[in-house]
Amino acid sequence: MDSTAFNALKEELTTPKKIVIIPHKNPDGDAIGSTLGLYHFLKGLGHAAVVITPNDYPNFLKWIPGEKEIIKYDTQTQLATATIEAAELIFTLDFNHFSRVGHVEPLLAKSTATFVMIDHHQQPDTYAAYTYSDTSMSSTCQMVYHFIERLDALDAISADIATCLYVGIMTDTGSFRFRSTTQVTHRVLAHLIECGADNTTIHENVYDANSYSRLQLQGVALKNLKIIPEYRTAYITLSQKELDDHSFKKGDTEGFVNLGLSVSGIIFAAIFIENKGDKIIKISLRSKGDFSVNEFSRNHFSGGGHHNAAGGKSEVSLDDTVEKFISILPSYKNALHP
Ligand code: 5GP
Ligand code: MN
Repeated sequence: MDSTAFNALKEELTTPKKIVIIPHKNPDGDAIGSTLGLYHFLKGLGHAAVVITPNDYPNFLKWIPGEKEIIKYDTQTQLATATIEAAELIFTLDFNHFSRVGHVEPLLAKSTATFVMIDHHQQPDTYAAYTYSDTSMSSTCQMVYHFIERLDALDAISADIATCLYVGIMTDTGSFRFRSTTQVTHRVLAHLIECGADNTTIHENVYDANSYSRLQLQGVALKNLKIIPEYRTAYITLSQKELDDHSFKKGDTEGFVNLGLSVSGIIFAAIFIENKGDKIIKISLRSKGDFSVNEFSRNHFSGGGHHNAAGGKSEVSLDDTVEKFISILPSYKNALHP
């Protein structure tokens, strides 16, 4: 966002507005942390701000300050629709294409509100009057911090805002290990702790929230893990039955794809999760180094994301999806061969 645009947006925020803040469907820690962090900040400026998620989010995020005030479109459709229709400003966070909000897409497409995008994914669309897109950023939460910084409002960061933003930086960086974690990220984190983010409690709330059945499901995922050494690739499958047998709840498979990537020598990992309700196989892809899973997913699995972390889907059976995946690997042999 150049300074002319930024100043115009700053000017818009000087008078109270009806503001909707929305993350992508199946929101993760960065999506919930960034929307709630911005929500507390904008409320502090006197705006009527509301967070609307397309659908539910995992239980390990159901303690974040302000979380109980979130409106969920899929279960509170009337209220969510009326609120979006009345919005003067709509902040879209942690995604950059309307197709990422699922059933909310038509409402956004016909809205006359002024759109603001804050996002770190690749290939942003052009729907927003104000676009703050930076693919080098660790997380949308770090971008919300820099947005507040640019508004000269760092003093307004409360313990609640700091907690929200810490969550998303932590989850999107794999607890500060991915390459997107920079000196600046750590300075931001240090300041968030100064502002009252309780880092130990946040880690415990998010990562020590396992149910016994989720750990058992992780055991199944590990048993199903397959390695293809000639392509330095690992993949995991989970069928609907395996999920049902372990009382699957949203978020339970979060992080499983990284188990494949933790095998020595593996640079490309995938997980294929059957979803009979939606009639799709949900795919998560991760890589190390130069191999772009964003490109891989865009080209073969109707998805996208980041260079080293992307998602997608398939509309054929679990077995056929895996077969397709394996059949594609030889065309990437230059990148994947040891
Ligand atoms: P995950 O594998 O954790 O669901 O997603 C990894 C990254 O890819 C996240 O940044 C997420 O927003 C993005 N992503 C996941 N699924 C999709 C998809 O279907 N389409 C696009 N464009 N991005 C996705
Ligand atoms: Mn993110």
